[in-house]
Amino acid sequence: MDSRSDCCLQEGAAEDERDAAGARFELVLINPYELGRQPFALAEAAAWLKQDGFEVRCIDLSLQQLEAKTLASARLVAIYVGMHTATRIAAEALARIRALAPRAHLCVYGLYAPMNQELLRSLGVKTILGGECEPGLLSLARRLRAGESGEAQSEPVVHLAKIDFLTPDRSGLPGLERYAHLILPDGGRKKLGFIEASRGCKHLCRHCPVVPVYQGKFRVVPLPVVMADIAQQVEAGAAHISFGDPDFFNGSTHAMKVVAAMHASYPMLSFDATIKIQHLIAHAGLLPALKAAGCLFITAAVESVDDQVLRYLAKNHTRADFEHALQLCRDAGIDMAPTFVPFTPWSSLEGYLELLRSLLHLKLVEAVPPIQLCIRLLVPAGSWLLQLPDFRELLAPFDAKMLGYPWRHADPRVDALQQSLQALVAQGDQRGLARSEVFGQMWQLAHEALGLAPPPLARADFGEPMPHLSEPWYCCAEPTEQQLQSF
Ligand code: SF4
Repeated sequence: MDSRSDCCLQEGAAEDERDAAGARFELVLINPYELGRQPFALAEAAAWLKQDGFEVRCIDLSLQQLEAKTLASARLVAIYVGMHTATRIAAEALARIRALAPRAHLCVYGLYAPMNQELLRSLGVKTILGGECEPGLLSLARRLRAGESGEAQSEPVVHLAKIDFLTPDRSGLPGLERYAHLILPDGGRKKLGFIEASRGCKHLCRHCPVVPVYQGKFRVVPLPVVMADIAQQVEAGAAHISFGDPDFFNGSTHAMKVVAAMHASYPMLSFDATIKIQHLIAHAGLLPALKAAGCLFITAAVESVDDQVLRYLAKNHTRADFEHALQLCRDAGIDMAPTFVPFTPWSSLEGYLELLRSLLHLKLVEAVPPIQLCIRLLVPAGSWLLQLPDFRELLAPFDAKMLGYPWRHADPRVDALQQSLQALVAQGDQRGLARSEVFGQMWQLAHEALGLAPPPLARADFGEPMPHLSEPWYCCAEPTEQQLQSF
C-alpha cells in the first residue's frame, strides 16, 4: 500500500467518524424518469429527511446528469423507480452511481423496486423499499447516520401502513419550466404542476404494476398537504395541475374535496386526472362538478376493445362500458384520453384493425398519442397475470435486461406489425409528425399486414385535437437508447 492510499484511508476514516457523530451526512435522491413530471416521490422523501436534519440533494436524470461533485461524499443514494422505464434506466445507471458515490449505501424505492429486488440486489443495491416508502427511507438514513453498516435491511420491503404525509419539499428539483407542459388545441402552452392526492389502488387489474405492491389498498394524501403542494406549484407558475394518482376516483369524496378547494383558491387553474371506466360510470354524477372546477381531460386505461382480452386483464369493464363512459365525459364537456395495451398474447391482426376502426368510429384519433397504439403487454416479476391458468406457458424465462418475461405471439405477423409500428412512431417523433399523420401510416401498415388495401381516411373521422401533455402517458414502453445513455 503506498503512502497516498494510506493517507486517503485515514481521511476516509476521519469522515466516517464525523458522519457517525452526525456532523455531516449527505444524502442524494435520484429520479431516473417520470414522464416529464416533477417527481412527488423525491419531493416527499426530501421533506421527511430534511425534517430530521439530513442534507438532501436531488438529481432528476430526465434533465440532469450524474456528477462527481454531487455524489462523491454521499453516504446514502436512494433511487426512485415509479415505472418500468425508470427501472430500466436505474439498472443501467447503477454501475456509474456506484463509481461516483463509492461510500454510499444504495437504496431503490418505489413501485417497481420490490418486484425487481433480486436483480437490483445483484447490482449492489442494499435496501429495497416499496409502497409507502418514506418511513423506511428515514429509518435507513438514521441507522446509517448512527454508524450502522446497513448491510442487513431491517425496514420492510413493502410498507402499506398509513403515514403522516408532509408538504413535499420541491426546492431541490429543477424548476417546473424544465418539465412537461400542457399543449392546448390552439397551440398555446401552460406550465404544468404535478400532484399526487393518493397512492395505490383498490382494484386488482391483473396486468397492473400497482397490484403486486398495494394489493387492493390505496392511501390518501390529506387535503391540507395536497393544497399546500398545489399552492407552492402555483407560486412556481403552474397554470395546469396533472393529478398523478393511479385512479383519482378511488376515493371520490376526497377527490371532489381536493378539486373544490383547488377551484375555490385558484379559479383559473385547469387540471387533468386518471379515472377508470368503471368509476366514470359509477360516479357519472360528479363529472359536471369536475368540469366546473376546471377539468380539461380524463385519462382512462381502456386497454382493449376486445371483451375477451378485458376479461383476461380483469379490467371490470367492457367495450360497451368504454363507449358509455366516453359519452358521459363528452356530455359533461370533458375530453377523454384513452390508453391501450394493443399487443397481448391474445391479440390478433383483425383485432388491431378493429381498434383503429373504433378510434375512427368514436372520433378519438386525435385523443390517442401514437405510442399508445404500439404498446406491448409487459409481464414483470410478480405480475398477477402469472396467476392466469396456462399463462406461464406463453412466456419465455425472465429476462433481467428487459425486466420482464418475454413472450412471442403465436402469429408472427402480430409481432412483426408491433415492431413496424414502434419504428414508425419513433420516426414520427423525430420528424415531429402530427398524431393524425402517424395514425394514417399505422392504418396502412395494419391493412398491409392482413393483405388488405387500406380504405381512404376522412379527416372528419379523426375527431378534434384536444389538450394534452407534451410527454404522453404510458407506464411500460421500452426506454429509448437516448434515455439509457442520458446519465
Ligand atoms: S389499472 Fe388502474 S384501476 Fe386497475 S389496478 Fe391499476 S391503477 Fe387500479
